[in-house]
Amino acid sequence: MASSRSPENRPLAGLSAAELVAEAATNRPALKRIAAAIDTGDPSIKSDIVDHARSIGIDLPADAETWPAKRILRRAMGREAVARQRSNPIARDEPFQCWHCRSDVAPGGSRVRDHCPHCLRSLHVDVVPGDRAAECGGDMHPIGLNRSHGDDTIVYQCVRCGTTHQVVVHADDSQRALRAIINLPPM
Ligand SMILES: [Zn+2]
Ligand SMILES: [Zn+2]
Repeated sequence: MASSRSPENRPLAGLSAAELVAEAATNRPALKRIAAAIDTGDPSIKSDIVDHARSIGIDLPADAETWPAKRILRRAMGREAVARQRSNPIARDEPFQCWHCRSDVAPGGSRVRDHCPHCLRSLHVDVVPGDRAAECGGDMHPIGLNRSHGDDTIVYQCVRCGTTHQVVVHADDSQRALRAIINLPPM
């Protein structure tokens, strides 16, 4: 790559702006690492990345070069890569067979199907509904009902790791099963 800078000013091993952005887009730890190196390194790298982003059609304000490197990188990565790295990535809404009542459950459509509408059981596969970011895979049991941001929610606890989380009640969730949650025996 073309660069007139001396190696000691390039803590990022002589990578071009485009290569830095591509590397940062790999995953969140990479973004963090590269942003930290840029913030503590030669400030002209920021200008290079801003120039690169503008050259590929990303609209950045005049003061973008003064932003923290992480913010510049995220903008330079473009919409698609940022969406991949968000804590709430593209949700997967897939049919599944309920591990508890064996029902075949169809995708939820407007709302990601993250629990069985018949018995309300779930699996510990998501950090947020549909992201499949949890590695546990344990059975999730409904342990209570709640309200969050104006929605009725079901509170779950994982039998394997003990994590609790809540998900929004779906319109077709069994009313009988919802009422039964308050009478469920302890796990
Ligand atoms: Zn079920
Ligand atoms: Zn778990």
